[in-house]
Amino acid sequence: MITRRRAFLQENIIIAGQHTPDQTTASWQQQLSQAIRDPAALCQRLGLSNQWLPGAFAGHQLFDICVPDAYLRRIKPNDPSDPLLRQVLPVEDETLTPPGYVTDPLEEASHQPAKGLIHKYANRVLLIASPACAINCRYCFRRHFPYSENTPSRVQWQEALDYLHADNTIHEAILSGGDPLAANDRQLAWLVKQLDSIPHLKRLRIHTRLPVVIPDRVDSALLHWLSNTRLQKVVVLHINHPNEIDQAVVDACARLKQAGATLLNQSVLLQGINDNVSTLAALSERLFEAGVLPYYLHVVDPVQGAAHFDVPDEEAKALVNQLLEHLPGFLMPRLVREVPGRTSKTPL
Ligand code: SF4
Repeated sequence: MITRRRAFLQENIIIAGQHTPDQTTASWQQQLSQAIRDPAALCQRLGLSNQWLPGAFAGHQLFDICVPDAYLRRIKPNDPSDPLLRQVLPVEDETLTPPGYVTDPLEEASHQPAKGLIHKYANRVLLIASPACAINCRYCFRRHFPYSENTPSRVQWQEALDYLHADNTIHEAILSGGDPLAANDRQLAWLVKQLDSIPHLKRLRIHTRLPVVIPDRVDSALLHWLSNTRLQKVVVLHINHPNEIDQAVVDACARLKQAGATLLNQSVLLQGINDNVSTLAALSERLFEAGVLPYYLHVVDPVQGAAHFDVPDEEAKALVNQLLEHLPGFLMPRLVREVPGRTSKTPL
């Protein structure tokens, strides 16, 4: 069965990739279309034994595997505990259904006044610009999100845009997804142009993991529409571990900054991946070297399939208190949880 996310990629990415001229290396669209989407291929590529296959197939049934080569290259082969591998390899634990872990942990379905639009917080709205991602993170709180019901066509975007025009208390539009940068630049340029024309909008925020997963995504077409908007630009990256930041990511961050974007990062606190002081301190240091400020450290949202990543609150708070001894204040991410119905993130 082909999922809505796969169909979106086929329509918007792979087709776009076929028309990219003058490429000496694979375009980001080609890299995305060639991502590993098969559990056996992932295990074989990384030298993992067959014991990982049943869990990988079981998790893959619930949430497709997707790992592009640019990210794979940062994973150490023959190491099942590699912190990047653990973010992308489906495991048997994803089939568990402990109480309290649900398919819509943030109750987003009740905050959608128009297709593709989520309005939870005062002054800002979130637009689902793409149902697809460049990587499928196993802890994702939107792993069950009904993208098929929330991916507007250009005509349907008008309802969301009318909503924004009509409410002059909204100052910020947040492009989200999926990953908004999985949409092609023609669509994004059009959408940002529409947002530009709304007088009370001040800021454009983009939440994305694509510059980290496929740094070549930050290409001239993207930089063109990003540079040309009158809106103040904030790009919130999603990086959980310092090993994710290689030179290509540093260079992509530099290009985004040159286009006028302020760069922030949010991480998720993940058991067995970054739940120790040395990793979190190294992450903040490495982010700052790349010109990115740490912003939030989220505890795992209680989404079905991700309970095994959870770090208990008391451990999380103790960890952050220890981190204070290792970092200057401006490199400290804020430890937060998103609680449905609250009008902002909740600090722990
Ligand atoms: S990139 Fe973001 S939205 Fe996509 S799977 Fe990963 S965490 Fe979820």
